[in-house]
Amino acid sequence: MIKANDPSLVSWVDVEKGSDFPIQNLPLGVFKNDQLNPRVGMRIGDFVIDMKSLHVLGYLDNLPFSAEAFDSNSLNLLMKKGKLACRRLRNRISDLLEKENNELQNNEHHVNQVLIPIEQVEMVMPVEIGDYTDFYSSREHATNVGTMFRDPNNALLPNWLWIPVGYHGRSSSVIISDQDIHRPKGQTKPNDNEPPVYGPSRMIDFELEMAFITFDGKPLGESISTEEAEDYIFGMVLFNDWSARDIQKWEYVPLGPFLAKNFASSISAWVVSLDALIPFQVDTPQQDPEVLSYLKFEGKKSYDIHLQVGITPDGSEEKVVCDSNFKYMYWNMAQQLTHHTVNGCNVRGGDLLGSGTISGPTPDSYGSMLELAWKGTKPIQMPDGTERKFILDGDTVTMRGYCENDKVRIGFGEVKTKLLPAK
Ligand code: CA
Repeated sequence: MIKANDPSLVSWVDVEKGSDFPIQNLPLGVFKNDQLNPRVGMRIGDFVIDMKSLHVLGYLDNLPFSAEAFDSNSLNLLMKKGKLACRRLRNRISDLLEKENNELQNNEHHVNQVLIPIEQVEMVMPVEIGDYTDFYSSREHATNVGTMFRDPNNALLPNWLWIPVGYHGRSSSVIISDQDIHRPKGQTKPNDNEPPVYGPSRMIDFELEMAFITFDGKPLGESISTEEAEDYIFGMVLFNDWSARDIQKWEYVPLGPFLAKNFASSISAWVVSLDALIPFQVDTPQQDPEVLSYLKFEGKKSYDIHLQVGITPDGSEEKVVCDSNFKYMYWNMAQQLTHHTVNGCNVRGGDLLGSGTISGPTPDSYGSMLELAWKGTKPIQMPDGTERKFILDGDTVTMRGYCENDKVRIGFGEVKTKLLPAK
């Protein structure tokens, strides 16, 4: 077992029961405030650990990280050191925060310098994302979409059960939680018999996804096997892949998603290491037909992560519209990364790979408004008496995720984005 995963560990830092961020989590992010430039932080309870200060004070000696790795506006430099170094770092912080360890806790001056209350910082994008890829790996989601737009009897396209289908997205518009977005404008074709029109999208949707962030992969021309894949995954975030359904419908033929997708995609602020999620590994759903040899894998490569989506209209209360779970995904992350590199495509540190919309088997577990309101035919009733087929101006969409067993809870916090009117 990885030392920092020991469920019996207790920290001298006060962590509220039910917190997403116990000593067994220790995710990484980047924060700033009026006094401090953007820098690397680790989260415990309601505190951020200032990793730069910790390094300057000598607590991270004997680890292979330079001062620059922590005094940086992204995690990319730190990630350059790879999986084992990041594991050692998390183990070291775990030691320092553990109740029986007096190194840091007995030095009040240092504690005050290093532990910053979360309300005193602003989180910024944790990673400089090089390339962003989005998959389409939920069988339930692909089936729902195929049923709505094609043929209920042949909902899945012929390639779907053979290939972890994906496409290259755009990294420049990936934003962090709490950053507002504006309703995008574009071309749509509301009437089949009339020419297209230009204007604000009228069908803004969320997509409940998770995404993983990679370490540097192998050089161009080489492939990563399913056995190796998780060694190249740094960690995971919640991911809302905003979509404009009316723009999408008109533009996607023949090359696929474009402006309907690249106006914004939101990620949560804290990157939870794959190490921290090991206690929550589960079997991947049965894959039938048997996958091609390069996609075969051994062991538990899916993760039991509870997911929830809420919509909060301006000035009103939240309505939870979706309860899902990451474990429903047909294709697991190892298969996605393996497939991505099977042709020799190289991934680099800081690439972001989205799971695809995560829909579960029941209607309340569907991961998009398109499915929840079934193409607008089953509007969702809101507490304020209004209804939703898609997201309206002023709505805030909040996604949350956590793993939990009888010993420990590892959470992702939330990714929250407000939709403002078109500019
Ligand atoms: Ca997507």
